[in-house]
Amino acid sequence: MTYPHEPMYGWALTLDGVPVPIAAAQRGQRYLCPVCKKEMVPKMGDFKQHHFAHLNLLDCTPDNVARAVAGKWLVLTLTRYLASGQPVLIEWRTQNTSYKVDVLKNAAAIKENENTPQGQADIALLNKKGEAQVVILLGLGSPPEQEQLHQWTRNGTAVIVLNPTGVRTGQIQLDNLLAESEISGGWWLLDEKQLPPNLVRAPQMIRKVLRRAVRKPPYRFYGELHTEGAFSHLLEVEGHKLWLPQEVWRDTIGGARNRLGQDVDVLLQTWETHDGGQIALFYVTVRETTAVAVRRFQAGENIAFNLGTSAFRLPSVTAVDLARHLAGGPINFPA
Ligand SMILES: [Zn+2]
Repeated sequence: MTYPHEPMYGWALTLDGVPVPIAAAQRGQRYLCPVCKKEMVPKMGDFKQHHFAHLNLLDCTPDNVARAVAGKWLVLTLTRYLASGQPVLIEWRTQNTSYKVDVLKNAAAIKENENTPQGQADIALLNKKGEAQVVILLGLGSPPEQEQLHQWTRNGTAVIVLNPTGVRTGQIQLDNLLAESEISGGWWLLDEKQLPPNLVRAPQMIRKVLRRAVRKPPYRFYGELHTEGAFSHLLEVEGHKLWLPQEVWRDTIGGARNRLGQDVDVLLQTWETHDGGQIALFYVTVRETTAVAVRRFQAGENIAFNLGTSAFRLPSVTAVDLARHLAGGPINFPA
């Protein structure tokens, strides 16, 4: 039986049941389909993309075949690194800089198909307490929802979404697979020595500090993000130093983006308080400057911001001017 468009498979099993991406296949070896256990043959010629061919094709699609074993291969590969004490590095980027983080930092166990409190993960790297430090999604099927990713990052779990093409085709090694993946959260995996001292990094702690900043009168706070040595986007709050590049804010606080003009951006998030009030949090970017404003509203108080005023677009206005206004201060923009 022949097929006009014979699917190209990225994965097979050895006769011993070990997952093999096509990138690691060997000519002349015998392989089995992970789904139906029928024979597969590695095609590693010069003209077509390398792939496994399925000798008696039934209902096995390349995605199903990849889904059946790619996760298991990753668990085996990462476990080998963990056992040998080697780091597994991935790049965590901010707008201006990138940092290497070790995916295996604090990892004690690696599990497939793990049901975390925030959702189902293809792979989870657990710490000694059994909490997910990092989850990995294979990326097959529909792309994950942003909201789902943020549920993990807000809880302090980094999320790595793999490039589905790499996973499907099996044209992978661990390093290039991670280089092509997207990481959300994860700055807390950075080495201590890469960071300025007294930095608050845990997402839960960042939220706690911001919440505390408005717990007593005048129930408002604003501040400009500043640079210290090689480090930008630091916010001083009650003796703490919060590191808040936009990527960190997005994965820790989140919120809806309001574009007020060219190079004028406000991310707005609101939190309920125990007494029925609300806390509004603003991440303000005006050209090169960035500031944060937090304001607490009592129950029943009207939450209203005038984001429409054209004063924001004056070239002399900086992020901290806008933040002061959003925190409820007077509009005294420089002329
Ligand atoms: Zn099959």
